Amino acid sequence: MALPNFDAILFDAGGIFLLPDPTVLGPLLAYHGGDPSIAAHRRAHYAGMAAKSAAGSTEKFWHDYNDAYVRSVGVPDDDVELASLVLEQTRNAYTWRWPIPESVRALRALHDAGMPVGVVSNASGQIAQVLARSGVCQEGAGVNTPVRVIVDSHVVGVAKPDPHIFDFALVHFPDALRDRVAYVGDSVTMDVGGARAAGLHPILLDPHDDHPGADFDRLRSLEELLA
Ligand SMILES: [Mg+2]
Repeated sequence: MALPNFDAILFDAGGIFLLPDPTVLGPLLAYHGGDPSIAAHRRAHYAGMAAKSAAGSTEKFWHDYNDAYVRSVGVPDDDVELASLVLEQTRNAYTWRWPIPESVRALRALHDAGMPVGVVSNASGQIAQVLARSGVCQEGAGVNTPVRVIVDSHVVGVAKPDPHIFDFALVHFPDALRDRVAYVGDSVTMDVGGARAAGLHPILLDPHDDHPGADFDRLRSLEELLA
């Protein structure tokens, strides 16, 4: 895909840099017949997000995600309802902590190439701490990749798809034109929708081509941003 030369790139956190930890959820759902492998759980997250987007669900509603997730790892039909409930009761803000290796590398490479970068996340007040602990990034200099800002919806009091959440990030990119700022997320409803409403350039991370024919740009991996 040919992307424009962006002035800056903003990223979602969940599903972009961090996944619900497959080393926790693997054994959890293996009890219900699920494949505990990291590969199966990575795939299941995007199957869940595609189902969540298809249902038009916003941040609070994860039923469609849970169902699609447990089906994706291979939980048999007659155990889907219970496994979905167990997943719902186990996953919480702090389990979104498993760093996606190629995403972490791509963020570092983008920063090293001089691209201004930041994070805008619907979160629970924890996201900056988890991004740092999991080796992804921090605001300003540090051991991980420096980003200009990490916006946490719980901290600023506005959540995607409300486009005003992006204002808290854009003040850190005074030289960037809105339509030359990319926002990379994994939700059509919250990320593509919110970024569009804010006048940004939305991009969906869609590693398994779950959204063929979409009317927005898609990436298989953040590494495509380096092309
Ligand atoms: Mg996300």
